Amino acid sequence: MSLSALLLLTGLLLKGCDPREPPRQPKTLIIGMDGVQLDHYEALPHSNLQRLYYGKAYAGGITGRASEQGTISGPGWVTLLTGVWANKHGVVSNNESLRVDPAFPSLFKRLRQAMPNAYIASVVNWPPINTAYLLEDAQRNDVRDSGLTDQQVTERALDILDKTSADLTFVQLDEPDQAGHASGFGSAYDLALREADGRLGRLLDKVEERSQAHPDEDWLVILSTDHGRDQDGQGHGGTSEQEKTIFIASNKRLNAELTQPSIPDDNPGPNNLYSYAAQTAVAPTVLRHMNLDLLPEWKLDGTPLLGDTGVRKARADEASDRLLWNSSSQGNVIIHKNDQVMVELSASQQQWRDPQGMRQGADYVLELDGTPAAVRTHPMSRPFVIEESSY
Ligand SMILES: [Zn+2]
Repeated sequence: MSLSALLLLTGLLLKGCDPREPPRQPKTLIIGMDGVQLDHYEALPHSNLQRLYYGKAYAGGITGRASEQGTISGPGWVTLLTGVWANKHGVVSNNESLRVDPAFPSLFKRLRQAMPNAYIASVVNWPPINTAYLLEDAQRNDVRDSGLTDQQVTERALDILDKTSADLTFVQLDEPDQAGHASGFGSAYDLALREADGRLGRLLDKVEERSQAHPDEDWLVILSTDHGRDQDGQGHGGTSEQEKTIFIASNKRLNAELTQPSIPDDNPGPNNLYSYAAQTAVAPTVLRHMNLDLLPEWKLDGTPLLGDTGVRKARADEASDRLLWNSSSQGNVIIHKNDQVMVELSASQQQWRDPQGMRQGADYVLELDGTPAAVRTHPMSRPFVIEESSY
C-alpha cells in the first residue's frame, strides 16, 4: 500500500467511516423531563445523569430581543422540537388553540418527509404537545400517546424500543414539574426527580441493550428540559437566570457549542448564560444525526451539537444594523437575507452591517461549513414586549 493510500485509509478510519463497513442506521431517543432545575438534579447522588455527557443551556430566547419567549412548557417543548424560537414557530403561550407554524415544522414532520418509512413516536404525559401544538404537524406519527402517567410513558417507550424500528422516539415526563408546582423545591421535588431519573436509567439500559444486539444501529440519546424554575421552585415563566437555565445531555460526546461556552460580548446574559448552548440546538443535532443536511432555507435558529458548529452565537444588533457572531474559523460565511444571498465574507470578521438597514424585520441565515444559523430581527419601530398573558 502506498503511503498516500495508507494516509487516506487512516483518515477514513479516524473519521469513523471505515469503507468496509456499511453505514449504520441512525436512531434517536429524546427524553424530555419537564421543569427540571439542573443544580437540583446534579445534587442527587448516583443519578443516571452521570452516565451522560451534559452541559448547561438556556431557554426563553434572548431577554428583550425578538427571540424572547416565556419560560413555560408550550413554547419550550415546541422550541426544542423545531429548533426555532417562538417568534417563528408561533407557540408563544400555553394556549391550546395554538398550532406550530407549518413553515417551521417539528422533527416529526421533517423526518417523515425525509424518511417516509421511519417509525416515529411521541409519548407524552402533558397532552397539548401532541393534542394541540403539534396536532397536525405530527399527524403521520406511528405513535402519538398523550395524558399518560410518567410510569405509563416509560413502559410505552420501552415497548417501542423493544418491538419497533424506533427511528425517532420522543418521551415527555411531567411529574417533576407537577411536584415543583405543588410544593416548590424540597423533598417532594427531589423524590420526583429521583423517580424521573430511575425512568431515565431504564430507558438508557434499554438503548444499551439494543445497541449491543444491533451493532448496525447508531443511537443518539438526548435528555433535556423545557424550562427551569423560579426562586422557590413553585413557579416559572419569567426571565430570571434560574428560570432560563436548562441543560442538554447525551450519550454522545457533543461539540464545542455545548462543552466550551462562547460569550456574546455585547449581551452575555445573566452570569454569561448566553455563552451556553440554546434550547434551539436540540432539533438540528437530531436532524444531523439522522443524516439530513441542514438547509439554510429552513432558517433554524439553533446550531447542531454534533459535527461542525458553524458560526456561534449568531445575533442581530438592530440599533446598529449589524449581524454579530463568534467564530475562529478561517472559512467564509455566506449571509442570506430573506432567502437571498447577500454577501460572503471571512467568518473571522464576526460582524456584518446590512447596508439596507434593519428597520424592517427580516430573516437572516449565516452559513459556515454547511452549517446554517438563523436570526430573525424585529422592526425597530416598536420595542419588543411580551404580553402578560404569555405567562
Ligand atoms: Zn410547569
